[in-house]
Amino acid sequence: MSAVDRYRVTPGASVDLTKIPTSDTSAFPEATKKSSRNQLGAMNERLSELQRLLWADGSRSLLLVLQAMDTGGKDGTIRKVFTGVNPQGVDVRGFGVPTDEELAHDYLWRVHARTPSDGRIAVFNRSHYEDVLVVRVLDLVPEDVWSKRYAHIRDFESMLVDEGTVIRKVMLHISKDEQKQRLQARLDDPAKAYKFNASDLDTRARWSDYMAAYARALEETSTDEAPWFVVPADRKWYRNLVVSQILIEAIEGLGLRYPEPSDDLGNLEIT
Ligand code: AMP
Ligand code: MG
Repeated sequence: MSAVDRYRVTPGASVDLTKIPTSDTSAFPEATKKSSRNQLGAMNERLSELQRLLWADGSRSLLLVLQAMDTGGKDGTIRKVFTGVNPQGVDVRGFGVPTDEELAHDYLWRVHARTPSDGRIAVFNRSHYEDVLVVRVLDLVPEDVWSKRYAHIRDFESMLVDEGTVIRKVMLHISKDEQKQRLQARLDDPAKAYKFNASDLDTRARWSDYMAAYARALEETSTDEAPWFVVPADRKWYRNLVVSQILIEAIEGLGLRYPEPSDDLGNLEIT
């Protein structure tokens, strides 16, 4: 078992997020904040190589779904984990409040349009899971509507996997106290204040409702083929190592090889 598998949500298991650590460092017991820089650099290089291989092979793709409470570190994770990876091979997509056109379609419509094509990596900064998280907590649709979505999502993701996409889903797990500090830091720093949204405080006030909604989503949709990982995210450097490792193992697990050259290169002479 890989060290990061400790954060994988076992399919069918019940989830209590209050019992899952937000500041564990046990998957990389030797690492410190300082030493993690070199380690992350090496992982960035490895992920970059694997992205090239994914592209060269051209038959598979990778989807990373990132979910977190506000200030959970989705943006920072994307920035740090994909440093050095060819930007041409990665599509990052944020999903905010749906537009009128999006709302006029089924909730998977906008998401399906952004799934990765062969050879590419797609990163979802928020995702279709908002449709069983914020939508459930704020009663944006009736329960008999959102409660059917877990099954839709399992089927949708299963279809993507059958068609060649590798899916890894990560909840960046921060404590409520850590969020308080990060929100305060946003207020205090002119360069971060623009990120502060008064509605973030309403969301924070419903922390336990959100945790219950997350727990249900993790229980219902962590599958062998499209697993969830609850990554301790109070320490940013540790979060970056864990998410990098999850992605590296996901691509390595495909056993890809560079394709054979199309011509017999032995007979070619470049003049
Ligand atoms: P941010 O990630 O800070 O740009 O915020 C995006 C906002 O869009 C968050 O408050 C999400 O809860 C909200 N959002 C994302 N998807 C949905 C959805 N399907 N329905 C309602 N709100 C959503
Ligand atoms: Mg926000």
